[in-house]
Amino acid sequence: MKLFEVYPLFDITITRGKGSYIWDDKGNKYLDLYGGHAPVSIGHSHPHYVKKITDQISKLGFYSNSIQNPLQQELADKLGEASGYDNYELFLCNSGAEANENALKLASFHTGRKKIISFSKGFHGRTSLVVAITDNPKIIAPVNETENALILPFNDVLALKKAFAQHEICAVITEGIQGLAGIHEASQEFIQAIRDLCDEHQAVYVCDSVQCGYGRSGKFFSTDYYNIKADIYTMAKAMGNGFPIGGVLISPKFEAKFGMLGTTFGGSHLACAAAIAVLEVYKKENLLTNALKVGSYAIKQLQSIKEIKEVRGKGLMIGIELAEECASVRKKLLFDYKIFTGTSSDKKTIRLLPALNITTQEIDVFVEALKKCL
Ligand code: PLP
Repeated sequence: MKLFEVYPLFDITITRGKGSYIWDDKGNKYLDLYGGHAPVSIGHSHPHYVKKITDQISKLGFYSNSIQNPLQQELADKLGEASGYDNYELFLCNSGAEANENALKLASFHTGRKKIISFSKGFHGRTSLVVAITDNPKIIAPVNETENALILPFNDVLALKKAFAQHEICAVITEGIQGLAGIHEASQEFIQAIRDLCDEHQAVYVCDSVQCGYGRSGKFFSTDYYNIKADIYTMAKAMGNGFPIGGVLISPKFEAKFGMLGTTFGGSHLACAAAIAVLEVYKKENLLTNALKVGSYAIKQLQSIKEIKEVRGKGLMIGIELAEECASVRKKLLFDYKIFTGTSSDKKTIRLLPALNITTQEIDVFVEALKKCL
């Protein structure tokens, strides 16, 4: 059977990983600054993670959400402690798109409304509603089209106020730092306006933290820098270090009802073991502090390269905008210097989303290689 070809592939076969390095089937070693689109948060094959998953699978990988699963509560407790949102409640699912889909569904159940505000160049996943609230026509199938989506310019407070004045809004969803768009931070004023307008109109503020959350920015959620709380936070990528798991963090104002959300696989024993291991490593290795320290170091080093037009981001979520399209530089980094970096929807911007325990020495290797490429 042929694979359905939806991904353009590099002709590289990765067979193993350790920390921030991965190896191909020919024995070549690569520095991984992209973590396979950001999920790799504690590094490849972290010994604590391997042990925890191995122990769990030898006992029980999966049963259903109709029995007690103490691992879910352990994960919720550890997540409450790590994030500081211990009064919020947790719904577990399997991916970022699913987390956002459930968050918006919850907002609609709660308000009884339909209109969702999202922002230009944002990305929230590929399922039906969340794909409809993106402004990339190539990924929206006719069946996904909806009149319930209002897509506004990012960081535009005036447009936001106007939309609230004209429509009955169910929810506003935005990334704290737009990732796929090429690393663009929401302004404090913009996030404050979302919070204030949602409060004023009893709408729900959903913070998509699938990419920028879970410590990547140096705080648990990137909007924590602004001392503003969203009603719902969605998470996935870094949560399982590559094991598929997603989560919805729900403020106490929402009331759970049996059956309102659900999933077969979400919160399985194995997924919880993976996510618990991740949070234990975060705590032991102080990864939020490391993300901020190494990220700030990387940004400073990159800003000193005169060929770079702009360096954007916070912590270990970094966008490097070049004067020209970055494809050839990324290719050179990959094939000549054996360094994986990421793309973005802005063809001039390279994205870095490394593991949160990457070191300054590993950043130095990249900076030297990039200087040579430029
Ligand atoms: N939200 C954001 C901000 C993302 O970056 C992504 C994926 O890149 C998603 C949602 C969708 O996550 P998933 O691919 O796990 O469905």
